Amino acid sequence: MGDIFASVESEVRSYCREWDTVFDRAAGEWLYSEDGRKYIDFFSGAGALNYGHNNPLLLEPLIAYLRSGSVIHSLDMKTTAKRRFLEMFQELILVPRDLDYKVMFTGPTGTNSVEAALKLARKVTGRHHVLSFTNAFHGMTLGALAVTGNSMKRQGAGIPLNNTSSIPYDGFLNGQPDDLLWLRCALEDSGSGMDKPAAVIVETVQGEGGVRAARASWLRALSDLCRHHEVLLIVDDVQAGCGRTGTFFSFEEAGIQPDIVCMSKSLSGFGLPLAVTLFRPDLDIWKPGEHNGTFRGHNPAFVTGAAALENYWNGREFESQIAARAAQLHAGLATVAGKIEGSHVRGRGLLAGIYCPDAATARNVSAVSFASGLLVETSGPQGEVVKVMPPLTISAESMAYGLDILCEAVRSVTGELLDPMPRIHRREVTGVGTR
Ligand SMILES: *Cc1c(COP(=O)(O)O)cnc(C)c1O
Repeated sequence: MGDIFASVESEVRSYCREWDTVFDRAAGEWLYSEDGRKYIDFFSGAGALNYGHNNPLLLEPLIAYLRSGSVIHSLDMKTTAKRRFLEMFQELILVPRDLDYKVMFTGPTGTNSVEAALKLARKVTGRHHVLSFTNAFHGMTLGALAVTGNSMKRQGAGIPLNNTSSIPYDGFLNGQPDDLLWLRCALEDSGSGMDKPAAVIVETVQGEGGVRAARASWLRALSDLCRHHEVLLIVDDVQAGCGRTGTFFSFEEAGIQPDIVCMSKSLSGFGLPLAVTLFRPDLDIWKPGEHNGTFRGHNPAFVTGAAALENYWNGREFESQIAARAAQLHAGLATVAGKIEGSHVRGRGLLAGIYCPDAATARNVSAVSFASGLLVETSGPQGEVVKVMPPLTISAESMAYGLDILCEAVRSVTGELLDPMPRIHRREVTGVGTR
């Protein structure tokens, strides 16, 4: 029997090339492959598994829902599951944060939420031009690609991606903060040659673009500038949202209120597809059905999404737990980064990374980590950042375990370790209990 993945699945496949094993079971921060190896997950489905794999607090209500004969598919019809989700989202997320947003269910992916945000911003303002930032990532459909930075991904479009411009993210100019000087001048000078934009779309921490975190003061300045010039501010919280940076929305720390917010990845909490676009009520000028989709509002995702909100966002306890784990992670990463010349720690909360001056180092660290039982991916234009994203629910013990493997992987890659034998041979876990 050959490798059916290689023979049948398209060349477009990617993660399965680096992590060349067949995964079988998962629980919390652990993944188990068919051959009985155990992996600690510092990847978390690229941010879709903030509450870990098969979290029982979400799994049990899902099983009960599935067994009850309730509706699974309903387009955007009213269901009990959708009502519960909307009630929880309003009561536990919007009201306590003093946010007044309408909730739009888009097709169940991040890129669809971004498409809806871009369409709405253009429709509301009557302008076509949208500004995005260097190294931004907003998804793979044409509208979202047009505001994405990565040249390889952009070329995949096959047509010109226009009506957008890319401007410097915080720290892009040789690491120097420019405090939006160019944008400020361009918006104020009618001779700038820049068409007045409908919107600016931003990630508070650029996940795919190399784990770059914008400063809160920069985000506030951006928000003020947009407001002053009546340009809509879209925050793409698809990856940084749902607690990843320490608060439910990643922009809470900056104290800003974006006009439009995109969410997906961990919104269902269980790895089920679900996405929303949130916006100020006065922007809600959609005609019924003007942006629709067959899988808007997938009821099983509403069930787990509501359970995630009820279990983790009813109070501030979870935020303290994330803060404690984030402190542990950043301290651990600082030690690890200290072993790679010219490297530094990036990110905010549990969206963190180690920048390596040489992309090969990052790639090798990721590969040796995998061989030693740790999933960490690379990110950034050249893949020069080891991107570390454990589940938010990870225990202190598991965090230490994963950091330990990462540290040893770095020592082995930099030649500090004389015996670069992958540790999985020593730590291999098979048999009962884990399978
Ligand atoms: C993953 C991601 C998207 C795209 O989400 P998909 O579900 O893959 O379409 C958009 N924006 C950001 C910031 C993301 O991380």
